[in-house]
Amino acid sequence: MDDNLSLAGCSVPIQSLQRHTSPIIAILGHFHAPDPANARITSQVLLEFARIPANFYSLQPRYPSFTEQLPPMTIFQKIINREIPARIVHEDQHCMAFHDVSPQAPVHVLLIPKKPVASLAELTADDAQLCGHLLQMVPVIARQLGLSDGYRTVINTGGHGGQTVFHLHIHILGGRPLHWPPG
Ligand code: AMP
Repeated sequence: MDDNLSLAGCSVPIQSLQRHTSPIIAILGHFHAPDPANARITSQVLLEFARIPANFYSLQPRYPSFTEQLPPMTIFQKIINREIPARIVHEDQHCMAFHDVSPQAPVHVLLIPKKPVASLAELTADDAQLCGHLLQMVPVIARQLGLSDGYRTVINTGGHGGQTVFHLHIHILGGRPLHWPPG
């Protein structure tokens, strides 16, 4: 198998890391070098690794011993990986939209990035293009769902924001007049 872990623009062959029990030690070992250029790459890699590499969870089923120290997969990551079912209404290379299992309006869809970003608070400048794509997809999906009279988009962030699933998601709600302000 030739699976790679993508970090800081570098592609690391998983097989070369697997002999280590800890992913972080393996990655440090892979990037450690005495010259300053590599030191910079090492810190960038560590920063990115702290945010969980975009393709890490897709590697998890095949490399359980290597990946087991990471935070558990969210329910939305399992939907992306097709490990649990969902009523999917849109999917492309960067995002997925599916019906909420507990709808709060006649139409209630969640739009998520495939990249495992925990919340709005975790976004960085590197995610600008991804954010643009997500926002651009909202009206496309709303049209597809027949929400011609309007709709509401909600992003709950953190505990006080009422976020319960820590994979960034945009709620798209419609199909009836929605009240304001929300609770
Ligand atoms: P939030 O509270 O903003 O984090 O929203 C999480 C949403 O995910 C809630 O509206 C849940 O009803 C929804 N949800 C949880 N599990 C699933 C699932 N398996 N399929 C679809 N939606 C889900």
